[in-house]
Amino acid sequence: MADRYQKFTSGAVGGFAARRLGLPRPELLRRFRPGDRALVGPVLTAGGGRLGKELAAVLEAAGAETGPAASPGALVFDATGLTESAELARMYGFFHDRIRTLAPCGRVLILGTPPDRTGSAREAVAQKAIEGFVRSVGKELRRGATANLLQVAPDAPGAIESAVRFLLSARSAYVSGQVLALGTVPAHSAEPAASAAAASSLASTDPTWSWEKPLAGRKAVVTGAARGIGAVIARTLARDGAFVLCVDVPGQAAALTDVAAAVRGEAMELDITSATAVPALGARLRREDLGGVDLFVHNAGVTRDKTLGRMDRTQWDTVLDVNLRAVETLTAALLDPADPLLRPGGRIVCTSSINGIAGAAGQTNYAASKAGLIGLVQALAPRVADQLGGTVNAVAPGFIETRMTAAVPLFVREAGRRMNSLRQGGQPIDVAEAVAFLAAPGSGRINGQTLRVCGQSLLGA
Ligand code: NAD
Repeated sequence: MADRYQKFTSGAVGGFAARRLGLPRPELLRRFRPGDRALVGPVLTAGGGRLGKELAAVLEAAGAETGPAASPGALVFDATGLTESAELARMYGFFHDRIRTLAPCGRVLILGTPPDRTGSAREAVAQKAIEGFVRSVGKELRRGATANLLQVAPDAPGAIESAVRFLLSARSAYVSGQVLALGTVPAHSAEPAASAAAASSLASTDPTWSWEKPLAGRKAVVTGAARGIGAVIARTLARDGAFVLCVDVPGQAAALTDVAAAVRGEAMELDITSATAVPALGARLRREDLGGVDLFVHNAGVTRDKTLGRMDRTQWDTVLDVNLRAVETLTAALLDPADPLLRPGGRIVCTSSINGIAGAAGQTNYAASKAGLIGLVQALAPRVADQLGGTVNAVAPGFIETRMTAAVPLFVREAGRRMNSLRQGGQPIDVAEAVAFLAAPGSGRINGQTLRVCGQSLLGA
């Protein structure tokens, strides 16, 4: 899955030329394959914060190799005990001594406290400082390694396992420089019953549940599933045990049928902008064997790029209709107070974009639609938690190698591909793994957030 430049620089001649010219040499990222070890390793931990015991239990449950190693696969620092800025030097010391020994495609993970959930202003300062630290570490790391910060609210015990497993595994290959918060669900919202518990206790209460098939028994819908990122999301959710209803426009019927067959799901030809989309989907989901949906992935999206003065009204409307208005309409039906299509504990994941965060010339329509999705997940998160004990989040892909990005002019494309800490484009599987993570039963404390899958893109950073 290497791009041409990556192939060139991984060869003897190209590698030599790149070294001499000071050009980047993107690492071939390690990605998860069924049967692989759950976590990268060996994992070296330090810090002595309040999450130490929980972290140790997670590492043990995941079968991670731990302890000192000449070349650790992961460096994990529990910084929840840092209550003032002078103590940041402890974190400096741990990483200073070891960062250069981190293995290729290694992981740096710091556990912290959301600054607004700390006990004092000094503690909030120290915890906020960690964000700058981890983002800088991400930019310094080489050879496909990543750095992320997991902020765990003090009242979110038993919640870290799903996120730690994701961030310390090859599933998060293209996620770097991110700050993910656990337990920031508003205090008034009902905590999702199934997901409040650590997923390992799910395993103990339900012997059929497993980390290998975390979505077993769940019904999912993926829009735009005929190709690109949507097709890989459908495959990944099916790999994790979900039944998937694959939705796409009638013009994609053949490809859609192939994807649905490959995932042993069902295909549904549907233009999500059509006036009949909600009743048609409602009727399909209420069929006895589906009976509502546990996970809805709003993935379908289009571009119609033109600078604002040259963009005609149809180009504006098409993008806003598919990318945002259809998502709003379908989500309203999923959450209909009288008769919601989303089942209790259900999850909604929207596909935003880093261009919705950074903006992009020629994409006023697209960026508006993708920023709107970030607004949607923020605005609806408390309601989804209150009403159904569920979550609504977004993923924001950066440059992902698909037909959408293959259509971008050569030089813009090459710039987009390299302008991130991993110096390469991501693959559809990277977005799909993030969606599967947000959908997993142990991720119920993540709500209203936008997880960037962008290799720490400089855009919108
Ligand atoms: P793609 O064009 O390859 O696939 C999009 C799919 O959506 C197509 O199968 C298309 O038929 C379907 N679709 C379009 N309009 C539809 C409608 N009205 N009803 C039902 N289905 C419809 O795109 P992709 O690159 O796989 O992108 C998937 C999502 O990820 C999009 O929302 C896109 O904006 C977002 N995204 C992609 C990238 C990237 O680099 N490729 C980056 C950021 C965000």
